[in-house]
Amino acid sequence: KKKTVNENYFGAYGSFEIHKEMISDKVRMDAYRGAILNNPSLMNCATVMDVGCGTGILSLFAAQAGASKVIAVEASEKMAAVATKIAKDNGLLWDGNPNGGSGKSTGVVKIVQCMVEDLEKHINIPPQSVDVLVSEWMGYCLLYETMLNSVLFARDRWLKPGGAILPDTATIFVAGFGKGGTSIPFWENVYGFNMSCIGKEIVENSARLPIVDVVECPDIITNSVVIQNFDLSTVKADELDFTASFELELKPDLSVNNTKSKTTWCYGVVLWFETGFTSRFCKEMPTVLSTSPYTPKTHWSQTILTFREPVAIGLEKPSPDVTSLVGSESSPAIRIQSRISIVRAAEHRSIDISLETSGI
Ligand code: SAH
Repeated sequence: KKKTVNENYFGAYGSFEIHKEMISDKVRMDAYRGAILNNPSLMNCATVMDVGCGTGILSLFAAQAGASKVIAVEASEKMAAVATKIAKDNGLLWDGNPNGGSGKSTGVVKIVQCMVEDLEKHINIPPQSVDVLVSEWMGYCLLYETMLNSVLFARDRWLKPGGAILPDTATIFVAGFGKGGTSIPFWENVYGFNMSCIGKEIVENSARLPIVDVVECPDIITNSVVIQNFDLSTVKADELDFTASFELELKPDLSVNNTKSKTTWCYGVVLWFETGFTSRFCKEMPTVLSTSPYTPKTHWSQTILTFREPVAIGLEKPSPDVTSLVGSESSPAIRIQSRISIVRAAEHRSIDISLETSGI
């Protein structure tokens, strides 16, 4: 029998490797741990729900921060069992009935194995009874995995009016990259031999399929632009697909460093996201989780979209050799104008990204 998309998805989260990768991601951990532990007015005595608890790490932080009850939901059978054991081994498991009852319990963390969408089939939980909803749902390019839908479902059903969602904002950024951001330079000179046909093929393929990889900041040649901002307290699932127009120009420091007549080639754009734990809910110490190429690396890296053909951008007419490459006499663009759309393909838990670009 062929496995369903969800069986594959939750099965993958049953592997410890993926949890090790997430827990080793210091940027990610510091943001969540800081948001949970450094905001006592939020967490103290709160009823918390952790959507997709994995190992239970965020729930353990919440318990440490003084939450009075933590409902940790995990669909992966393997991880729900492991999280239960971990909470127990650390003296934090609550094995009583979440709505009172006579369970003798030492801790506050209740692990429930199910999809959060089915939670009410498993425990008795009144609507609008949760003070703080915490989840680490972000995928590549923010929306890959389509897990945010599940978090919004939980928010609408169980979060108290005015309750906190952590994180509470999400922002997607874009910037243009130069040749150094592609595999072209690597293949141009292999022990003195020219293997650039490989680099070219890789670049052609990546115009069809985005690449998840790290982009070094010197390879970014344009300003950075916000293409989307979500308020996670209010956004609806059907508002997550979007189209945005944006314009990029050469980074100011780049046009200063290079001689002004020089044309730079923009090979594509890089996307990244940030999520905010803002002062709206994290009153004592707000924080940001950034996956920007300008800040320390995370396991999300960046998402790279390559143009079918590089776009020349600069401030003056290109030199003749550059012109012969594009086969046109036209001047380099001074701006790159683009339209991007990101649409969830929920049935595959993937996303479709389309990008139209022209130099102007
Ligand atoms: N909170 C953990 C794990 C994050 S990974 C940590 O921060 O380390 C996301 C987890 O959510 C995975 O373990 C996945 O199995 C689970 N998950 C995703 N969608 C879910 C859903 N709809 N219901 C329950 N669990 C879900």
